[in-house]
Amino acid sequence: MKMFLVWAMSLGFVACTEKRADQTDGSVVASVGMIADVVREIAAGDLAVVSLIGEGIDPHTFQPGKSDVEKIQKAGLVLYHGLYLEGKMGSVFENRRDRGHRIAAVAEGLEEVSLIGGESHPDPHLWMDVALWSKVAAGIAVELAAFAPDKAAAFQDRLERYQEKLATLDQYARVAMASIPEERRILVTAHDAFSYLGRAYGIEVRGIQGISTESEAGTKDINDLVNLLVTRKVPAIFVESSVSDKSVRAVIEGAAQQGHTVTIGGKLYSDAMGNPGTYEGTYIGMIDHNVTTIVRALGGEAPATGFQDKLNR
Ligand SMILES: [Zn+2]
Repeated sequence: MKMFLVWAMSLGFVACTEKRADQTDGSVVASVGMIADVVREIAAGDLAVVSLIGEGIDPHTFQPGKSDVEKIQKAGLVLYHGLYLEGKMGSVFENRRDRGHRIAAVAEGLEEVSLIGGESHPDPHLWMDVALWSKVAAGIAVELAAFAPDKAAAFQDRLERYQEKLATLDQYARVAMASIPEERRILVTAHDAFSYLGRAYGIEVRGIQGISTESEAGTKDINDLVNLLVTRKVPAIFVESSVSDKSVRAVIEGAAQQGHTVTIGGKLYSDAMGNPGTYEGTYIGMIDHNVTTIVRALGGEAPATGFQDKLNR
């Protein structure tokens, strides 16, 4: 299977890259912030980490600029997500792999059975399931240990401590989501990034992306969604700036006509974390924010400051 080949290949590069290794600056380049954050947790100060795709930027359509390509070329190790998340960067990564440099697609080490959509059309957004992301973190630690073997023991220690925190977060998400009254456990959201969250924490996920009010089919979809929200007394939907106001307004107004108030439950982080240096700018903070925001808006029980009292501070 292709997925395992990537891992195997990256481990095999040790011997043949001696000459090229001196052209690199020893940095670890991560495609997305979520991966960079895990590297920082595990390599804490031992390795320099560079994240390519910044906050608020869509990895699916990200076009690497000249400086991004340079960073990739100089890096000692490149970690990207894979499963076609970084659509437009695929050729840059392939090129690097062909030249025998160290590179690994960290999400592609997971068993197919864990993936939504299977091997042919895998849904890449698996960081929304904390237990799955913890497995990815373990794979990242393996890559880092192969890259800097003298630090392997320290990496393993930090990985274990980090995984304990992730387990606590996972447990929080489970309990908090279950506190939402059962009929209201529906996440209506713009981006298609939340299927793993839905599967892991028992909440039904419905999208409003792509529903246009221009066509008859679009109008029917909106009406169906409105009826669902009204029938199940769902008090909030979650939007992102990419969704047309028109669909969102149509849903809110449609519900209002039936005497049901729907509000906008807040902004969720989908493919990128919050601003660097903030709690939401870490993987744990991002998930804590999403879970806490969803649970509170849908009438469940979760503290406003999240599971470790760090949110919205
Ligand atoms: Zn996405």
